[in-house]
Amino acid sequence: MVTLSDPGSRRSIDMYLHQKFCFLADECAGDFLEKHRQVRITGTRSVTTPVGGTRLLPTEHMVFLLSESDDQDKKFLSDRFDESLSHVAAADVEEERSFAFLVKRLHVYVNDTSVEENACLVLWDEQIGLASLFRKGDWLAIWRPYVTVERQAGRDDKRSITLEYGSQTVIFVIPMDPTKEMELMCSMASQPSQHAVPRDAQGILDFKWYPNRLLITELAPKMINITIFGKVLEVIANMPFENEGIKVSRYGIRLTDESGYCDITLWDDIGQAATSNAFVGDWLLLEGLATTERVARGQPGKLVKKRFDVFGKVELGTKAWNVSSSTGFLCSPFLRNIMRVSAALAEKRHNFYCRAVISTWAEGKCGRTTISIHPRCNRPVETTDEAVLYCPFCAQFIEECKVTYTLRFVLDDATGCCEVDVGLGVAEDILAVTPSEFVRLALDEQREVLDAIIGKEIEGSIVRVYDHKDQTISFRLTAACVSGSSVQSTKTLIQNLAG
Ligand SMILES: [Zn+2]
Repeated sequence: MVTLSDPGSRRSIDMYLHQKFCFLADECAGDFLEKHRQVRITGTRSVTTPVGGTRLLPTEHMVFLLSESDDQDKKFLSDRFDESLSHVAAADVEEERSFAFLVKRLHVYVNDTSVEENACLVLWDEQIGLASLFRKGDWLAIWRPYVTVERQAGRDDKRSITLEYGSQTVIFVIPMDPTKEMELMCSMASQPSQHAVPRDAQGILDFKWYPNRLLITELAPKMINITIFGKVLEVIANMPFENEGIKVSRYGIRLTDESGYCDITLWDDIGQAATSNAFVGDWLLLEGLATTERVARGQPGKLVKKRFDVFGKVELGTKAWNVSSSTGFLCSPFLRNIMRVSAALAEKRHNFYCRAVISTWAEGKCGRTTISIHPRCNRPVETTDEAVLYCPFCAQFIEECKVTYTLRFVLDDATGCCEVDVGLGVAEDILAVTPSEFVRLALDEQREVLDAIIGKEIEGSIVRVYDHKDQTISFRLTAACVSGSSVQSTKTLIQNLAG
């Protein structure tokens, strides 16, 4: 029986050691298993013991980590792994001598022994899972592999050696770069379970299958396939990057979660798509992001800090989802919880859903009911003295613009009131008049359209927006649907079915 625990964590679990590893616990191996030996395991299962504890079942799919800097580990290697592949004689194999090799992992050929060079470590069936426990460039000390030597057809000077993971074989791993690996594992020690993240020959960590939520402070250099969920603190306008005459659009989003914040650079099409419907206070889910390696920052002579960048581009499969403005989310009683306005305000909720009546409407902050925006980025446009349209966000002159509403509502649900700026595209749904139709109406007709919504009950998604410059807090309605519509009837239907 061995006790396992994560580095930096107080939790531990007992595991039955597979009998093939028992020699490591014998006297001849000294305290091999006792001095915080690190192991990598796959393909094991847990069971509940009669007294209620959890234990892991024995598995052959276990490798032991050795350290090059540890004297005892070095002695362990030199005492036991003194053979080289070139000394393997066919006669020795026939005599069933046991071998122990120290080899560098280049590839693990699985069910493929057609390779001419080096030796192949062959893994069969369920053993294939073992390949995930060591990486390209790792050193492997292979204890008692099943060895075969074959002379290649027509070549007297060439032969191929095959090592198989047999019933007595034990693999010890000297990781390619143990310091980097420790960095990663320690930074995630706050989480109850830890997962190995594959790292390729260039040291890139792939988070594609990482099952836990990754927090911003856990980001490290050279990661790919990262998914982050957080609140938008700032949307940074296009700062095109020019290299050898080619101009590429570059946008930025400053995102925060409960652990911290980071700036994310979004290139070209995905940058434009993500920022066109992301506004301060919105909750965004970004997937397919990556980080660069560490790069020095700051001016010469001043403090130079080594940092890394977080970025997304189409080639990486980056996607952005705005959860706050998702009407699908709002309309699904299974996904959202309706809160009382008074409670949401008292709890200083960053994002909440409410059912409330529109008690009054007012013009937007600019003092008008509609504004012109750039259709590509959904940001207000400026008109120059020469009547040319300019988009400050995209940093370019533009030819077309479109009209959109800019309104403020007071929402009242009898427990409290909340004044909200009405977000992009939200007023259209409530007014049922498109902005382009609206601007063609006479002023009194416009007022009629707006007055008609007073008293209307809506379900809305609201975000709390903190303005860093003015240090003020405001609220924005990011999605809305009119109550008593299909949502209400669906809900009633579901309740009837459930009842
Ligand atoms: Zn624009």
